[in-house]
Amino acid sequence: MSDADQTTDGLTSEQVLALILPPNVSHGYGGHLVDMNGVDYIDMVSAWGTNILGYGYERIARAVSAQIGKYANLGMAGPEFSRLHGLLLQHVPCAEAVHLVKNGSDATAAAIRLARFATGRVKILHRGYHGVQDWYMASIRSPGVPDTHHAQIAGLATLDPQSVRQALAAHPGEFAALIIDPMLWPIPDREAMLEIRDLVEKDGALLIFDEVVSGFRVAVGGMQQVWDVTPDLACYGKGIANGSPLSVLVGREKWMRHVHSINYSLTFGLEAVSIVAAIETIGEIVERDVCADLARKGQELKRAYAALCAARGIKSALVGHDCRPQLEFEGAPGVAGDLCHYLAIQELARNRVCTYGTLSLSYSHTRADIQAVIRALEQAVDKVALTIRQNAPAFVQAAGQ
Ligand code: PMP
Repeated sequence: MSDADQTTDGLTSEQVLALILPPNVSHGYGGHLVDMNGVDYIDMVSAWGTNILGYGYERIARAVSAQIGKYANLGMAGPEFSRLHGLLLQHVPCAEAVHLVKNGSDATAAAIRLARFATGRVKILHRGYHGVQDWYMASIRSPGVPDTHHAQIAGLATLDPQSVRQALAAHPGEFAALIIDPMLWPIPDREAMLEIRDLVEKDGALLIFDEVVSGFRVAVGGMQQVWDVTPDLACYGKGIANGSPLSVLVGREKWMRHVHSINYSLTFGLEAVSIVAAIETIGEIVERDVCADLARKGQELKRAYAALCAARGIKSALVGHDCRPQLEFEGAPGVAGDLCHYLAIQELARNRVCTYGTLSLSYSHTRADIQAVIRALEQAVDKVALTIRQNAPAFVQAAGQ
């Protein structure tokens, strides 16, 4: 299961990946992938968003090598844990305590278990994708997940005070938490988020920000920093360690003091190599203002893409946060939006740009890379425009019958 599952309908994730990724990857460097024939691709999948600084990024590589030379995993907290702990408390507004795990799914699962324990409630209200664990996979009735879990999770189609009020009112005092992925567009403004926090608090549930994607990308502290709205708990992963497996659950002491009661401790939870990678990654993101760099590149892509679409009369845009723009197609008579999407990502791959429709920017993407992506987007829009032109007569004919 991957991000592709969230962003595309109609094709399985394997089918989408076959459209967009080099079949045999030899290696990655910077913001690129190279296949076994030496063909070079600009990589906008960025290892599902983890490659925030770049493959083989020197500062991280040096620190990781040095740590491996000392020890990989003591099975307990070493001095590197205290350094990461300090950084997280400094940069993440809600972080009064820290619990380390491995995948984003671990962090959200630990958050949900903690919320259920702290509130004595079971139901979860959510918006977005939150990982592979049963509590969330029940929402899509994944094979293998007991049916009984399904009744415990409800989804929000949109994130606004009215929808939250209605959802809470349907089961007053029953929800343990509202968990949201703040990358999902459209996002509410600060006032609406404050109202949502208020509603959740009054109901007695916990507010959890799933910042697995937004953390260290939208802003160092994620969307809670941008909104200046502090949740009870928050989950970070992906970009935190530039590709090393680490994720964190952070939150207010009031709740986090129970974290050791919920039995979510992993053999590799305090593994030192990923912790060191995270310390250096966060250091580099802060010192080089990486989030602003990603946003600038995204703005350039959005502007150029809007001009390409306008010139061809194509109803499409790059939407979402500037640091991670996403292709959206309205489609046209006879050519569904999904088809335009698949055509575009396939054409992008043919022009050596890998993406499933989300452009996960990396600090290592150069000006030349951005220009090359814009040229590939032009080819993609041309392909969509051609397909629409070729299908339009058939549609008009069919409509006239
Ligand atoms: N939360 C969000 C918002 C995600 O996008 C993902 C992964 N796509 C996860 C949680 C789960 O993370 P992981 O795949 O590292 O378990």
